[in-house]
Amino acid sequence: RVGVGAVVVEVTAEHRAQLERERLLHEAREAIQTRDDFLCVASHELKTPLTPLKLHLQRLQKKSASGQPLPPDFADKALVQVDRLSGLISDMLDASQLEAGRLELEHEPLPLQEVIHEALEAFRPVSLQHPLEYEEQCTEALVIQGDRERLVQVLSHLLENARKYSPLKGPIRVTLTRNGAEAVVSVSDRGIGIPADQQAHLFERFFRARNAPISGFGGLGLGLYICRHLIERHGGRIWAESQNGLGTTFRFTLPVEPAPPLHGRA
Ligand code: ADP
Repeated sequence: RVGVGAVVVEVTAEHRAQLERERLLHEAREAIQTRDDFLCVASHELKTPLTPLKLHLQRLQKKSASGQPLPPDFADKALVQVDRLSGLISDMLDASQLEAGRLELEHEPLPLQEVIHEALEAFRPVSLQHPLEYEEQCTEALVIQGDRERLVQVLSHLLENARKYSPLKGPIRVTLTRNGAEAVVSVSDRGIGIPADQQAHLFERFFRARNAPISGFGGLGLGLYICRHLIERHGGRIWAESQNGLGTTFRFTLPVEPAPPLHGRA
């Protein structure tokens, strides 16, 4: 009996080891597939702005050779493509720094309303076709601890997504509220929404929902992954509420600094 038991134990251990090897192999294959898919999407995305940029420069070359004047919006159009390229590269750099745990953040007291205004002012000129609303549902100034540039980056990304994924130029609404010790910021759109079965994956690296191509815009699936890390590093949370075909609201929280004690009051 002991002999039989020992054989059973040995077979089970060998079987478990075999299952573990298969699991690791499966994980490794999936990681290679994800990397290959990413390389394919990234090279396509990086090449997309280069094609019109090259055409622009060829026109410049021709016109300057023949002494013709350039159209007034010539530089603006080229700059749009350069900005797109540099945005993609920044996202790739940020994502790799996050993965390596090397992304440094500033920590200074920040009036949250100022951060929101900065992001909205930068966004207004690029979103002229989308009505943009902002509502503050709290009366006092909310001060948080954090990195101004990175928080503007999070809001700018959510605004940019609201624009990208609203092909019918629907309105974009931003709100700021206070919920106890937390500030809550939301960005809502009435765009394409996100299929219910895909919402759980939104903040994963490289994730793009299957309806994303409807928007006609490309993407690397890195922006929300970066946003989640930045908000969590600030002690907050970020999530989405969406109805496929009707629109999406992204919300994030940030811990609010307690108000300083009042001095000089009787
Ligand atoms: P990207 O937009 O570059 O693909 P993101 O990480 O910003 O990457 O977004 C991941 C995916 O989440 C998008 O590809 C899209 O499918 C979905 N998504 C993000 N924001 C919205 C939105 N406002 N409306 C609908 N889908 C969205």
